[in-house]
Amino acid sequence: MIVYADGGFREKDEAFYPLEERGVLFADGVYEVVRYDRGRPFEMDAHVRRLRASLAGIGLPWPGVEAAASLSDELVRRNGLPDARVYWQVTRSAAGGPGKRSFVHPEKPEPAITMIAYPAEPLDPAAPVEAGEAVIVEDVRWHRCGIKSLMLLPASMAKTEAKRRGAVEALFERAKPGAAGTHITEGSSTNAFAVIGGVLRTHPADGWVLAGVTRAVLLEAARSAALAVEERAFTRAELLAASEAFACSTTQVTALTSVEGTPIGGGKAGEVTRRLAAAYVRRVLGA
Ligand code: PMP
Repeated sequence: MIVYADGGFREKDEAFYPLEERGVLFADGVYEVVRYDRGRPFEMDAHVRRLRASLAGIGLPWPGVEAAASLSDELVRRNGLPDARVYWQVTRSAAGGPGKRSFVHPEKPEPAITMIAYPAEPLDPAAPVEAGEAVIVEDVRWHRCGIKSLMLLPASMAKTEAKRRGAVEALFERAKPGAAGTHITEGSSTNAFAVIGGVLRTHPADGWVLAGVTRAVLLEAARSAALAVEERAFTRAELLAASEAFACSTTQVTALTSVEGTPIGGGKAGEVTRRLAAAYVRRVLGA
């Protein structure tokens, strides 16, 4: 497997981080995951835009950030992977390496770019919508979730808790300053949607959630299908009474057939979910 690391393409076994790599010591970096289907990257411009925004959010300049797209394409080509998920990571280094462990950023930071292309199953347009159960956990993350940061410990703990409880996703719930009660923000690695009173709802793309690329694609598909859509947070009670719920990310749209043991929409993927999942598949395949 060829990866991109330390300024070049090399065999994975020959790529190493320095011991004091800030991505490891401080989670000082950001990432993206881009899907390729039949050799075609999906929503490349949106990923580059979000990467630029995440880097600005942590104050790490990469003036040539557009190069991420061609590095990624080249990595997929070198690995001969028409269907892939490409992980991009940019951490804060400095000329000559990260230096000794220090909370203070290096004076002249440089982006250290790593990319790994993982093979993926070819997308089957005829496959039924993925479905699974969700649990709800407290959203203990910071207040800048719009930055796709490497600080994934809360998400990893939440997903592990979901798995332990036989669920596929953990939905985060939190009390937000200035808002009454608590709201569902998003999933540990997904954006969350629910159909409530006939309206498709999802949390606004503010600092409490990541502005998912798939989220934007599905919102656009819903609006062009003239569905009623509202970017407005919902509560646990609204979710448990919803007629449909789903979670989405670059990997897939997943119907949530129950939340905390309460069946949603009779325990099956609903009409809106199926329509939007189909629209997503068409978009991914460029149809
Ligand atoms: N929210 C969070 C917290 C995520 O980690 C992800 C995926 N990385 C998403 C939403 C979905 O984003 P996208 O559709 O761009 O994959």
